[in-house]
Amino acid sequence: MSEQKKSGFVTLVGRPNVGKSTLMNRLIGQKIAITSHRPQTTRNKIQTVYTCDRGQIVFVDTPGIHKAKNKLGEYMVNVAEKTLKEVDVVLWLVEPSDRVGAGDQHIANQLKNINTPVVLVINKIDMVKKDQVFGFIEAYRKLMDFADIVPVSALKGSNEAELIDVIFKYLPYGPMFYDEDTVTDQPMRQIVSELIREKALKLLDEEIPHGIAVSIDIMKERPNQPIWDIEATIVCERDSHKGIIIGKGGAMLKKIGSAARYEIERMLDAKVNLRLWVKVKKDWRDSDFLIKNFGYDK
Ligand code: GDP
Ligand code: MG
Repeated sequence: MSEQKKSGFVTLVGRPNVGKSTLMNRLIGQKIAITSHRPQTTRNKIQTVYTCDRGQIVFVDTPGIHKAKNKLGEYMVNVAEKTLKEVDVVLWLVEPSDRVGAGDQHIANQLKNINTPVVLVINKIDMVKKDQVFGFIEAYRKLMDFADIVPVSALKGSNEAELIDVIFKYLPYGPMFYDEDTVTDQPMRQIVSELIREKALKLLDEEIPHGIAVSIDIMKERPNQPIWDIEATIVCERDSHKGIIIGKGGAMLKKIGSAARYEIERMLDAKVNLRLWVKVKKDWRDSDFLIKNFGYDK
């Protein structure tokens, strides 16, 4: 087989909640990036890999571009900006709208300064009528020159093949970066910790989630048995939060644990014995040391 392959890096940018993680999971056909209806769910730059006979696309999921409020926020903005310059294609995800706002203008201004081709992806088209999409395209087109514009539905699945075609158009010829079975470079522990955090985000009240992190203390497979023993700590910022996370008689923690266990078992394809702890670490989001400690600095 002498035909030439293409390969390269693609990043997804866009306001929080537009569906970046959902789209990435959809494209690679597996749940790697956690999703939720809350903004700033994604903290890490994570890579997933799409391989086909044409070559390989490595996706880099960036935290949303937004104004920093604390050290963790600053770190997230820096990761996003640096990534834009290093990749081969930028996918800018937006929601269907004909009112292009200041937030979109802010992102457009940043993207105009780089040389990377920008593909506008209008997501969530399952929520609008087909004949409205043209109007949205016209509205967004005024912001900047796009290499291409592709409407999709990351949730329901629509137009993924077209999007993949468009991406390959802008990738250089070159060797594969990963072997063809690889779907992510995320360590297993990191995915497990993100799955637990996802369940906590979904089940807890509004004020807590941005202040939680999950560390995996123990994760090992029993010898000769398809059972994993996992112990993890949910770290929060206040004593009052600790009470809410644990819940009456431990009910909330139990709920988080069993929802997480279900997904971890599916991912590992094995039984999981999951034990969760809750600890208070005041202001961990303002501490460089603790941010590193939770693995948010990579
Ligand atoms: P991110 O912050 O950009 O990574 O957004 P997420 O991928 O976490 O998605 C945010 C929310 O939008 C979740 O509740 C998703 O289920 C929802 N969502 C994502 N894509 C679509 C879509 O194509 N259609 C609809 N209706 N909802 C979507
Ligand atoms: Mg996300």
